[in-house]
Amino acid sequence: MKNKNGYITEKGYKRIYDKNQKRYRMEHNVIWEQHYGKILEGMQVHHIDHNKLNNDISNLKLVDSLTHKRIHSGCIEKDGVLYKPCKKCNELKPIDNYYKRKVGISPWCKECCVKNAVDNKRRRKQNGNKQESIR
Ligand SMILES: [Zn+2]
Ligand SMILES: [Zn+2]
Repeated sequence: MKNKNGYITEKGYKRIYDKNQKRYRMEHNVIWEQHYGKILEGMQVHHIDHNKLNNDISNLKLVDSLTHKRIHSGCIEKDGVLYKPCKKCNELKPIDNYYKRKVGISPWCKECCVKNAVDNKRRRKQNGNKQESIR
């Protein structure tokens, strides 16, 4: 329901009426702009605690849309560096330690990918040897 105080969107964000722009806008964007000025093209406001309704300025952070997507797919941002937990060894590693894919980045760190490839190769070799000894 729209009213003067705003409403919650389907995605769980709060929209409020911006008197200056005479339209409803995301509250977190309005609050960010009140503190830091206009949000530049390609930048988005992220909720640090992932609570979409916690629009306290201390909970808001401006990130580029790619970083934003990555944060929401499990990456953690610390001092401007993105970290991601490896799905194989569970270690938190900087994003540089992951191979980039056409879509997103590999779920395993480079080390695990390389180890896995070596293991596969070895296994294939062992299987090959076995088959030879059968013959
Ligand atoms: Zn976000
Ligand atoms: Zn790993």
